[in-house]
Amino acid sequence: MSNRLSLIAFAALALCACSPQGSEKAAKSGDGGGVVNVYTARHYDADLALYDAFTRQTGVKVNRIEGKPDQLVARMQSEGKASPADVFLAADAGALWRAQNAGLLQPTSSRALNDAIPANLRDAEGRWFGFSRRARVVAYDSTRVQPEEVDTYEKLASPRFKGKLCVRSADSVYNLSLVGALLEVWGPEKTEQWVRGVVANMARPPEGGDRDQIRAVAAGVCEIALTNSYYYIRMASGDDAKDKAMTDRAKLAFPSLEGRGAHVNVSGGGVAANAPNPENAVKFLEFLASNEAQTTVSRMNYEFPAVTAVPAPAPVDAYASFTAHPMSVAAYGPRQAQAQSLMSAAGWR
Ligand code: FE
Repeated sequence: MSNRLSLIAFAALALCACSPQGSEKAAKSGDGGGVVNVYTARHYDADLALYDAFTRQTGVKVNRIEGKPDQLVARMQSEGKASPADVFLAADAGALWRAQNAGLLQPTSSRALNDAIPANLRDAEGRWFGFSRRARVVAYDSTRVQPEEVDTYEKLASPRFKGKLCVRSADSVYNLSLVGALLEVWGPEKTEQWVRGVVANMARPPEGGDRDQIRAVAAGVCEIALTNSYYYIRMASGDDAKDKAMTDRAKLAFPSLEGRGAHVNVSGGGVAANAPNPENAVKFLEFLASNEAQTTVSRMNYEFPAVTAVPAPAPVDAYASFTAHPMSVAAYGPRQAQAQSLMSAAGWR
């Protein structure tokens, strides 16, 4: 217990959304609660608004501990049974799978969650659920590229774009899950060829995040770039006037995989294996699946709702009509290690 208290006290220093008094309480399991301890690898402001809304609605305080997904997984592993984590959240299906695979998540059989979240966006055993969707697609220079030149993932690796593609590094979980999905659909040989084609097409060694790739397209450094949809939609929606101007030239295209739609990943979460407040954890996840939370995340973080019945609000609605590939996002995690070795063998740094 003292171990848990000191961890929580340490965690409280890093929290944005909780008071130190609240975190003391988090240490006590089974006290009827009022807290949920959320270990999150999501890095978006929208989440803070969401946590506040959850607290207003339920009276349950949210203690937030932020980190990179693998750091959080390692932390939960070292904390073991004493871990204060109630919920683990990550912005990649592969990261959710790694937590699951390490035995850090427990099955949840919530009717509300199973009804709300489509089967291909959650773990079959209820250890994690996708709460928002993001497509990994293409920003292209509309002064040099026709949309039909980027309407499949194959075309991104074709000699047409030799020296003209920008993409972030191979250790990005978004890239690992994309290549994992390609492995699932295409198998290793075709995927390896694709990865080699992408490396041959790079305009520069990978640097920066997705928004930097979009800016590079707008600046004429490359003609096409891989990006998550929400980074582009945020730029186009005008938070930042300079970024918005760039989207006059850089446009967004949704390539199709085997004619079945664009690659989609999820942000999501599950109940921690040793959660001291499991009821609050389930309550929290059910809240994330509610219409209110689905709309808030979409409106504030420009992701697509996971719940089919919830329409994307403006400005995301203008991009929401694309076809999403129907494969299960649970396929990405088990393929990430193979994806990584193909990418590093091809020189994708
Ligand atoms: Fe992101």
